[in-house]
Amino acid sequence: MNTMLTAALNQIKDTSLILAKDYEDGKTFKKAIDTILKPQKVIDGKISIKGKDGKKKTFQAFRIQHNDARGPFKGGIRFHQNVSRDEVQALSTLMSLKCAVAGIPYGGAKGGVIVDPTKLTKGELKDLSSAYAKLITPYIGPWKDVPAPDVNTDGQIMSWMLETYEKKIGQQAPATFTGKPLELGGSLGRTEATGQGGVFVLDEYLKQRVKGKRSKMKVTIAVQGFGNVGFYFAKIAKELGFKVVAVSDSSTGIYNPKGLDIEAIAKFKESGKSLKEQSLKGGSKFITNSELLELPVTVLVPAALENAITISNAKKVNAKCVFEMANGPTTSEADQILFKRGIDVIPDILANSGGVTVSYFEWVQNLNGYYWTKERVNDELKKTITKAFLDIDTIKKAKKISYRHAANYISIKRIVDAMILRGRV
Ligand code: NAD
Repeated sequence: MNTMLTAALNQIKDTSLILAKDYEDGKTFKKAIDTILKPQKVIDGKISIKGKDGKKKTFQAFRIQHNDARGPFKGGIRFHQNVSRDEVQALSTLMSLKCAVAGIPYGGAKGGVIVDPTKLTKGELKDLSSAYAKLITPYIGPWKDVPAPDVNTDGQIMSWMLETYEKKIGQQAPATFTGKPLELGGSLGRTEATGQGGVFVLDEYLKQRVKGKRSKMKVTIAVQGFGNVGFYFAKIAKELGFKVVAVSDSSTGIYNPKGLDIEAIAKFKESGKSLKEQSLKGGSKFITNSELLELPVTVLVPAALENAITISNAKKVNAKCVFEMANGPTTSEADQILFKRGIDVIPDILANSGGVTVSYFEWVQNLNGYYWTKERVNDELKKTITKAFLDIDTIKKAKKISYRHAANYISIKRIVDAMILRGRV
């Protein structure tokens, strides 16, 4: 079994031990937990396209629907050569937990195709997207399952999939996919939503933990990863007055204890170059990604890959808080080490839930045929994600558990309660 799936299932099993005390009917509770350990439906099949060279190309594809007790399934579609059934199942399970903790009315799902999209022409990518949409058409829809972009998929791919789906069902149904371009019913604010949501949570966390003793400029932040999530997180955190002292991409890290000019770094990256090629000034220096993880900062933000903080570097983390903007950046062993060392870990299912929350707003706008301003999107995001954090904070304090356990406690309880109400268990 792959490590991410093992970790996701262990999180559910561990949390069920704390949660069991809340349920008088132990048999029903156990049945609910056993159900959540497995997906409700696995769609897998081969999809084929005619390659540019005229030859048939076939790919393995998946859509895994984990649990829809709280609402339609929701989750991205990933095009990557390393996609596996286990990975898609793990991600679908985490989506159920993420939607439940964010308090948005969805269950979890995930899709994937085993393909290296960089080896396809644009035409082949369009045909692959269309073939995948045909495979999943019977199982998706605004009130069934709502896919979205994930690794190597984007608004263009959602547009091709939407077109294929709508042709098949013979009507418009924009609420079937989120992450669409604005022209086809996408939401304002979606591009920066994950980073923006993370900063709303960080601000609230610091208010709770630091209680105004510390000015914002004294809060130092190091961000690993400078893609969609890392860039917007760093940019918005800096705009709010926090001091971002380090960022990195896969080529290198840049550190300046006096604070970095995030916009200037972003401008440089936009020219298609890596951070390593940047000429440094004003006391900035290059550091490795491992050095970034060990910096003495207030908040360390892994925003790149899974398994960034492991048993081998968790003891060297020098931050007061690890803020998980990537999915699964801390292994279970590292998580225990950080907890024992008194380092708070704000878990991924809360920290990066801004993305799926604004996807939910996109769906709401599509269903209403009425579109919001960016200010409204951000106001609603702030309200939703701050409430999610405060719910977790309350449980953490009451039960004296970690933020991760508190987040899992809330999400699993919400799913179990929905299953019991429906009489599924
Ligand atoms: P992205 O591809 O836009 O950016 C990834 C960044 O990580 C790039 O800057 C890349 O150079 C850097 N990187 C890659 N390998 C690295 C390494 N070894 N060390 C340091 N940096 C490295 O991806 P993204 O959309 O920003 O997603 C980042 C993470 O956030 C992923 O775990 C993703 O699953 C998660 N996430 C993304 C969203 C979203 O809305 N995009 C939502 C929730 C979670």
